[in-house]
Amino acid sequence: MQSGAADALDVVHEHILVCTACPLHARRTHAVPGVGPATARIMAVGEGPGENEDRLGKPFVGAAGNVLTRLLESIGLRRDEIYITNVVKCRPPGNRDPEPAEMEACSSFLDAQIEIIRPDVILILGRHALARLLPGSGGITALHGRRVVRGDRLYVPLYHPAAALYQASLMRTLEEDMLRVRGYLDEAEARREAPAATPSGLPEPARPAEPPARDQLSLF
Ligand code: URA
Repeated sequence: MQSGAADALDVVHEHILVCTACPLHARRTHAVPGVGPATARIMAVGEGPGENEDRLGKPFVGAAGNVLTRLLESIGLRRDEIYITNVVKCRPPGNRDPEPAEMEACSSFLDAQIEIIRPDVILILGRHALARLLPGSGGITALHGRRVVRGDRLYVPLYHPAAALYQASLMRTLEEDMLRVRGYLDEAEARREAPAATPSGLPEPARPAEPPARDQLSLF
């Protein structure tokens, strides 16, 4: 039998599959709700489905998806233990950037997915996901690889895997940032197992593991 969270996630997925809240629905082959377990400790949020994703109804199944899979595996994670989704769930025509109104129309779905899964870490893939999840925080160039705490959530902005396909130097940056993610996950795990974990389950403020992002400073 499925858990309550898995049932709740299924309900969100069903709503996404029949959503007509923005014009993107008219040209889709499939809406792409997301894949992965409701119990995932890590969530990855990209921009929006591309051609392959639209055809198959699954996120990150093309070339960028292969990069994502390899990056996850490089720090000992299996793709099927991560919950993967996008800011918009239907393909923007010609893979153009999602428009603010489209992101807004889809926002309750992403909020619900995060609320149900309550992951330890949310990997933000690229600038559109960054603008949606951490508005006003700064750009991806400044924040990539850093841990950002906002509210009771922990985020790590990363360059979008597709960007590394076009700009080879970003691949090395992504690989280095993933090593940092491994460190953050290990810390999160240690905190969960520690008898005196902080009440919020979030990092102790005293010693950030990396140069502090602005949100951390404002929080602590
Ligand atoms: N790029 C994204 O942002 N999401 C996908 O699902 C595929 C490519």
